[in-house]
Parts: sequence; structure tokens; C-alpha cells
Amino acid sequence: MSRQVPVWQRELTRAITDPVELLRELKLDPALLPAARAAAARFPLRVPRGFVARMTRGDPNDPLLRQILPLDAELETAPGFVADPVDDRAAHVAPGVLHKYHGRALLIVTGACAVHCRYCFRREYPYADFHAGVDQWRPALAYLANDPSLREVILSGGDPLSLSDRRLSALLAALDRIPQLERLRIHSRQPIVLPERVDEGLLDLLARTRLRPVLVVHANHPREIDADVRAALERLAAAGVTLLNQSVLLRGVNDSATVLAELSETLFSARVLPYYLHLLDPVRGAAHFDVNKTEASAIIKALRQRLPGYLTPRLVREQPGQPAKTLVE
Ligand SMILES: *Cc1c(COP(=O)(O)O)cnc(C)c1O
Ligand code: SF4
Repeated sequence: MSRQVPVWQRELTRAITDPVELLRELKLDPALLPAARAAAARFPLRVPRGFVARMTRGDPNDPLLRQILPLDAELETAPGFVADPVDDRAAHVAPGVLHKYHGRALLIVTGACAVHCRYCFRREYPYADFHAGVDQWRPALAYLANDPSLREVILSGGDPLSLSDRRLSALLAALDRIPQLERLRIHSRQPIVLPERVDEGLLDLLARTRLRPVLVVHANHPREIDADVRAALERLAAAGVTLLNQSVLLRGVNDSATVLAELSETLFSARVLPYYLHLLDPVRGAAHFDVNKTEASAIIKALRQRLPGYLTPRLVREQPGQPAKTLVE
């Protein structure tokens, strides 16, 4: 019997990686090409076609496009913006395991993502060193099994839903057997950028685990959530998965209370609660996305005046050595 390639994996291979094609598809000025090529040489362009379809043709400032189009500005240096802004080395306790906070450990299961977000703090991350392949999971699983204080395991990456169902299911089965674990958290942008990923195979996997599943998606702008994404999220909610969202505060994308309020409303209508709004990690090449702390505070204050508390994300930033993410007021 021949094994069928799932639709989502076909879409993943069809993702746009050539700046020429992206500009043509979106009817953008070819003058953008040399910069796009130069910046993509550092961190390649990658975007699923379904996500491109949500962008406005001919608009170089489209908030979805800004998140994925390589620009000249990425080649500029800025004080304080470095290759590895979130120094996780101290928290790296076993191959592929980051254990920073009480009761939960984060597993880096792959370096691959369906989309390359230009602001990503891992754009220069040495994934190869940290990547835990299916046969390399043993030490990571042993670490988890040996810490009785752990209640939750967080699958991260990269994007953990880049793994095939076969590999995911092997991993979940192993996690199921660690008795002190109660919750399985998955951090993934795929339900947003590649809603095809939420298929029967994935829903079956989540239904089979003994652990309570939490899925934290990543959307930054309300227009990312179209009818297909909404349907995917509703399938997950119907399967009993707790859905949360994290965003990054990005200049030119969502740096206004109006956009963020609409994002919260749209997320809620798709059964997702806002969780974190992150200040940008100062990664080299992303300074043009930065919103400073004073401005960020003003935005979150305005947001709090418009939305119920449960629809207002917590504004946070990552500070090495702290026992939790740092709340920004
Ligand atoms: C952000 C993060 C977590 C999760 O933190 P929560 O506040 O529980 O969402 C866990 N481990 C690491 C290493 C993290 O960076
Ligand atoms: S999906 Fe997440 S990990 Fe992947 S490039 Fe985007 S922000 Fe980075």
C-alpha cells in the first residue's frame, strides 16, 4: 500500500522561497528585488502560498508581507541588536531541552518552520547543535523522566508541527509514559500560516495522548486569520485543545491599540485567547521592527481601556536569569 503524502506536506514543499516569485505574485515593484536577494542570503525567504494569498496585491507595506519579505534594513547593524539575544545556554540542560522555569521544560524538536519570520530571535540560531532528531530524543526524555517537579512539557523549535505525524506520535507516546507530566503544550505558527496542518491525523494524535493539550499559536495581525484558519482553530477547540495566542509587537505590523484590539476580537471569535505580547528580542537584522518600551506601554494601556481583561495579552520581555517572563507595565 502506498503511503499518501498529506496535503499540508505538499503545501510545505510548494512554499515560496524565491523573491522573484513573491514579487511577481504580489505585483510588487521589481526594484525591491536586489535587497530581497541580499537579505535572503542571510536568512532565506520562506512563506506558504496560502499565507501570501491573504496579502494585498501591490502594497509593499502590507502587514503580513512585512513579516516575511527580506529587506535592506536587515543588513544594517544597530547597537544592542546581536546574533543571540536570548542567551539560553545556561538553561540548556540536555540535548534539545531548555529548562528555565519551574514545573515546565521546553523541548526543541526541530529547527524547521513553515514560514521564516524576519523578526525571529532564532534567525541566527545554531539549530544544528540543538536539534533533537527522533533517535536523539532519548537523553531529553531521560532528563524529563528524572525531574519529578515537571508538570508540563512544551514542544518548540523551530515549529514542532513541522514533524510528521509518525514522528510526533512516537514522541507523544514517550511523553505519555512520564507519569509526573500532566500537560502537553505545543508552540506552533502552523495553524496560522498553514491551516492544512490541522488535519485528521493531527487531531487523532491529540485525542490519543493522556496529557491535557494546550496549543499556543502565533498570529500578529487580524488579517492572518481567514476562513481556513478559523475553521482549523475551531476543529482544534472542538477536539478539546486549549488555544492561546502569542504575538510579537512589531513596528509597521501591529504597533497600534486598534490593530491589537481587532486581533484579540478575531482570535476570540476563533476560540483563541490572547496570552503574550512579546517585546521584540533584539536580534541582529530586526531593529526596524522595534517598538520601544515607552511606546509599548502606552499601546498596552490603551488596549486595556478597550478590552475585557481576558482579551488583553500580557506585555512581556525575555530577561536572561529571571524565573519567569518579565511583565512590562
Ligand atoms: C517562554 C518560555 C517558557 C514558557 O513560559 P510560560 O510563561 O509558561 O509561557 C518555558 N521555557 C522557556 C525556556 C521559555 O523561554
Ligand atoms: S514560526 Fe516562530 S520560530 Fe519559526 S521563524 Fe517564525 S517566529 Fe521564528
